[in-house]
Amino acid sequence: MKTIGYAAQSTVSPLAPFSFERRDLRPNDVAMEILYCGVCHSDLHMSHNDWGWTTYPIVPGHEIVGRVIEVGREVKRFKVGDAVAVGCMVDSCQVCDQCRKGEEQLCRQGMTMTYSSPDRVTGEMTHGGYSKHLVVREEFVLRVPDALDLSRAAPLLCAGITTYSPLRTWNVGPGSRVGVIGLGGLGHMAVKLASGLGAAVTVLSRSADKEADARSLGADALLISTDLEAMTKAQSSFDLIIDTVPVKHDLNPYLPLLDIDGTLVVVGQVGPLDELITFPLLLGRRRVAGSPIGGIAETQELLDFCARKNVLPECEMIHMDEINDAFKRMVRSDVRYRFVIDMSSLPKARS
Ligand SMILES: [Zn+2]
Ligand SMILES: [Zn+2]
Repeated sequence: MKTIGYAAQSTVSPLAPFSFERRDLRPNDVAMEILYCGVCHSDLHMSHNDWGWTTYPIVPGHEIVGRVIEVGREVKRFKVGDAVAVGCMVDSCQVCDQCRKGEEQLCRQGMTMTYSSPDRVTGEMTHGGYSKHLVVREEFVLRVPDALDLSRAAPLLCAGITTYSPLRTWNVGPGSRVGVIGLGGLGHMAVKLASGLGAAVTVLSRSADKEADARSLGADALLISTDLEAMTKAQSSFDLIIDTVPVKHDLNPYLPLLDIDGTLVVVGQVGPLDELITFPLLLGRRRVAGSPIGGIAETQELLDFCARKNVLPECEMIHMDEINDAFKRMVRSDVRYRFVIDMSSLPKARS
């Protein structure tokens, strides 16, 4: 299947139109026309090879929403016309202990990522959602409930599940006290989801100017991390802190905020952090943890939860040819809170 997308050809080249082929359908494959694709910080990092494992050309995009246009002969769960979604992974071994328990993101052999990852059958590099069509095996296709607004659902597939999974792992519910560091694509979802689960949510911010935004997203309070008196008063007052900051930073000011056995989970930064002082960890049996996206079953649970509770990401819709500007604005945190590409802005190229 011929299709069209936007690709980067090198570390320095901007994203530009790129024609390529999607594979012929295997018996268990679903083909979809992509309607919307969210723009994640990883897309930018991977396009620039910031993590050192990008292969070019790269077609980024792993917050994908669309409609089924064709199914392989063994596909049971989907039919043409269904509203579907694909997130950060498109395959895994399916037989290891982690895959069997529905934690494909932790597959012992490594998940196959939606872009810039070798296909398990052909070895060809996968291409992501900044494109018109996608072909994915049935097991990695999610159902978008009717009640979810398709134009706003895309960011749930990475920003949403990345913050929902730790909330579920650490059993957040009514009575839980959750802190959220950073109020970007991930952070704003963490606030909405924790609040939707019934937790008391506090946004941790360096300045007071985020207060109105934090509250409008569902936060109960804003704690200013540069206000030493307020930080001292807030010691031992959180069960879970979700840290969504996507750059190197210092965790030490936040650790005393955790109650005994509390956890600070890093979901934003891939790479080094400032040196940790272990005193508050030992003294309060506190933990620093990490968490990568979530499994397929949990992602479906998230989509169903958001449909039921009407939890939706805040999106700014852009056209495909605005993507390079969107990357620049994202670096300046100039987005509320997630760019979503309207794929009808790409020409049709199917044959
Ligand atoms: Zn992402
Ligand atoms: Zn596996």
